[in-house]
Amino acid sequence: MASRNELRDRYRQVTDRIAEAAKRAGRSPNSVMMVAVTKNATPEHIRQLVEMGHQDLGENRVQHLTQRVAMTQEFLDRHRTLSSSKKADLPEVVRWHMIGHLQRNKVKAVLPLVKLVHSVDSLRLAEELQAQTEKHDTEAELLIQVNVAGEASKYGIAPPAVSHLIEQMHTMFNLKVRGLMVIAPYSDDPEHSRPVFERGAELFEDIRKRGDAGDAFNILSMGMSNDFEVAIECGANIVRIGRALFGEGDGESDE
Ligand SMILES: *Cc1c(COP(=O)(O)O)cnc(C)c1O
Repeated sequence: MASRNELRDRYRQVTDRIAEAAKRAGRSPNSVMMVAVTKNATPEHIRQLVEMGHQDLGENRVQHLTQRVAMTQEFLDRHRTLSSSKKADLPEVVRWHMIGHLQRNKVKAVLPLVKLVHSVDSLRLAEELQAQTEKHDTEAELLIQVNVAGEASKYGIAPPAVSHLIEQMHTMFNLKVRGLMVIAPYSDDPEHSRPVFERGAELFEDIRKRGDAGDAFNILSMGMSNDFEVAIECGANIVRIGRALFGEGDGESDE
C-alpha cells in the first residue's frame, strides 16, 4: 500500500510517462486524460489525489462506486467550508467513471453518480440506459466496450458488431455514444497489447470518419498500468490507471 509521499511520486511518474508517450505520438500531453482507478485505493489515497487536484476517478464495481462517490463528495463539501491552504488545488467537481461490467438492474443507481459509462456491452444494457435517462429526463454519455482480442472470459462487443449496435442506438435520443473502450489481455510485456490497441484504434477511426455516431464520438479509452504508454502511442485519449498509482492493493479483487 502506497504511503502519502509514495502516492505523490507515483502520480508524478505516471503523468510524466503519459506526457512522454503523447509526445512520441506527436500529440500534446493534455490530449490524454488519466482516470485513476480506485478499486485498490484506500479512502486516504482518494482524498489525497483529490487534494492534489485530480478530477477523474474510476470504479468497476457498483457497490464501491456508490460508497466512494458519497465519501468523496462529503470530503469535498467539508474541505470547502475550511479555509485550509490545500483548498487551492481542490477541483470544483470530481467526475466518476464506471469502467466495469454493468448489470441492467444497477443502471438506475449508477447513472446519477457517473460522468461516463465505459462499459456498454449489449443492446439490452443500452435499452435500459435509454429507459432510465428518458424517465428522468437526463442524458448519459457512454463508450462501447469492444472485445478486440476475442477473449471468451471478457465482456464486450465483437468488433464487426459495433457498427450495428451504434445503428440500433440511433433512436435512443438520451444516449450520447462518445467512443470505444478496449481492454487488452493481461501480459507482462506491453508490446503484446499493441496489436489489440491498433485494431481498437482502427475501428474507432472507421466509425469516427463515417460519422455514424455523430460529432461527439471522440473518446478512445484504452491502456492500464501495464500497457498505457503503448495505448497512447496507438491513439488512446483516456487511460485507466490503478496499480501504477496505488500499488497492488489488498488482493480484494473481483476479476
Ligand atoms: C482495474 C481496472 C483498470 C486498472 O487496472 P490497473 O492494472 O490496476 O492499472 C482499468 N480498467 C478496468 C476496466 C479495470 O477493471
